[in-house]
Amino acid sequence: MDKHIAVFTFPYSSHPALLLTLTRRLAAAAPTAVFSFFNIEKSNNLLFANLNCENILRYDVSDGIPDDYVFVGKPQEDVNLFLAVAEEELRKGVRVAEMDTGLKVSCLVVDAFFSFAADMAEETNIPWVAFWTAGACSLSAHLYTDLIREKCAPLVDGGSAGSDEEIADLIPGLEPVRLSDLPSGVVFGNLKSPFSIMLHKMGTTLSRATAVPINSFQELDPHLTKNLSSKLNNFLNIGPFHLISKEKTKTPIKLDDEFSCISWLDNQKPSAVAYICFGTVFTPPPHELVELAEALEESKTPFLWSINQKSNKHLPNGFLERITVNGTGKVVPWTPQDQVLNHVAVGVFVTHGGWNSVLESVGAGVPMICRPFIGDQHINSWMVERVWGIGSRIEGGNFTKRATRSAFEQVFSWSKSRNEKIEALKDLAHKAVAPNGSSDENFKTLVDVVTGSKVI
Ligand code: UDP
Repeated sequence: MDKHIAVFTFPYSSHPALLLTLTRRLAAAAPTAVFSFFNIEKSNNLLFANLNCENILRYDVSDGIPDDYVFVGKPQEDVNLFLAVAEEELRKGVRVAEMDTGLKVSCLVVDAFFSFAADMAEETNIPWVAFWTAGACSLSAHLYTDLIREKCAPLVDGGSAGSDEEIADLIPGLEPVRLSDLPSGVVFGNLKSPFSIMLHKMGTTLSRATAVPINSFQELDPHLTKNLSSKLNNFLNIGPFHLISKEKTKTPIKLDDEFSCISWLDNQKPSAVAYICFGTVFTPPPHELVELAEALEESKTPFLWSINQKSNKHLPNGFLERITVNGTGKVVPWTPQDQVLNHVAVGVFVTHGGWNSVLESVGAGVPMICRPFIGDQHINSWMVERVWGIGSRIEGGNFTKRATRSAFEQVFSWSKSRNEKIEALKDLAHKAVAPNGSSDENFKTLVDVVTGSKVI
């Protein structure tokens, strides 16, 4: 082994899986380098359950939760506890991994959230690669937070702009955008929370990174890409990750279809099914679940719904029994989402607008109906509806029976030109990750940065 690269992930939601996928791609491309992967134990146990990759070493770091801690239900309580110890955990971890391998760390590949990596990298004069797991739109909102706040302050404070106002030139490379669609913590929300402060700091530090790879493809957002490339070193679109050949990450293909979703879809008509899923963290409030369920039943829309089991009790009385008897729908706690979206029976994806879900829908050419909740989901949904024109948003922002039925009617009857747009983006996504495609080329640049072959 001739190089030692330290990888540090934000240990919640889909971040660890994406950081590990990135690590595996890098480890496959640089077989003489060793990668130390730092993550909390609980998350590592899931990630490394079936993984045996010679040049990736697993390291468990503390989650910051004291042994006798009692959770009181504050927002992002676990996240905040972790953020308080993150820097020290990485510094400690690097020292241990250097002793274990006998190799000094030569590059830091770190979730972009952690801007403390800038100082760490400068102290030892090594590259800092800041990986942004989401889209160019949300990254731009964080990079330009100060500018956005400056532009918005007179409008918001003076009362001349409501949150539904669409403002031109608010984010360079993206115009216009609706104020309330900015990610939480930029203008609205709790600007003083540790999470908002962390994102703000990230925005002001990111220009010091040696490279900023993101899980997207540049053809999706050419203007944002051009702008970000002018502000950041080696701004590299290297996704969509889920489309990249499993071969490259040396992953055995495993179809995790415990609940027989695919065989259920096999018995449905082409493009007839609404696939519903709100990601791994969020569930709509109970009254919205009822409205959505009633809209599905009344409109007789066949559906496959991934929802955590503890929320089933909020569905209307007798709903699960009725759909099982008449076969119009299937409710499961987990689906193999990418395979589901690529099934010929799926005609629309009802989503919270999480970045991975959006990319997976784009890659499968499925139109979306978005019901965003927090974080980057609003700006992702704005892009889906208004910039890329490949989906719509639930009118009024929440599921009501009327708005949901109208969204189904609209999307299921979309014109040929709209469907051509969706197909065109799908095609661009696949081309980007193909050999010599833009993401493939960008990844080669990233490998050069990480292994030190590229002179900085
Ligand atoms: N997912 C899945 N099956 C499910 C629910 C979620 O495979 O039943 C996957 C989905 O394919 C996506 C991820 O979980 O890759 C959710 O990520 P996203 O960024 O969309 O939302 P988050 O969970 O971070 O809010």
